[in-house]
Amino acid sequence: MLDPADFGIVELGDPRLRQPARPVAAADLGQVLEYARVLQWWMDQRGGVGIAAPQIGVSLQILIIASRPNPRYPDAPLMSPTLLINPEPLAYGGHQVALWEGCLSVPGMRGRVTRPDSVALRYLDTAGAPQELTLEGFPARIFLHEYDHLQGLTFVDRVQSVRDLVTEKVYREQIAGD
Ligand code: ZN
Repeated sequence: MLDPADFGIVELGDPRLRQPARPVAAADLGQVLEYARVLQWWMDQRGGVGIAAPQIGVSLQILIIASRPNPRYPDAPLMSPTLLINPEPLAYGGHQVALWEGCLSVPGMRGRVTRPDSVALRYLDTAGAPQELTLEGFPARIFLHEYDHLQGLTFVDRVQSVRDLVTEKVYREQIAGD
């Protein structure tokens, strides 16, 4: 059994965050559930609403979406944590929305990123069965952010200008709640 303490959050600048993650093979589903437990542990530990395997240094296409109200995102809707294996966007919808994102791998920073407001996607569930899902609003935002991690991207790659990067302190004191 994997010990979460043997892992840690990989931060911006670490090459493991730049590496596209490998797809999960059917034979590896048991191992994926072990990694999912470690992902969930680190996400809970840091108060995240989502996490992707490259963020714990594991190059596999798995991510968790867990929208819930929390100190970092007080307005987030509540949903039970959902593990997505080999996720793939099928279509984007809604209008483009600009939102300040944070990331466990980019501590102390926020970036204003424009993304579509809804996404239809397919993925494998924990039994390896194909599923389809449409996400809207904040959960769609979480998915698109985490999916970027599977491509070796972070929100820093998505801001249109360096002026769209601020510290968490400035975000809290001057931007949040506007
Ligand atoms: Zn992130």
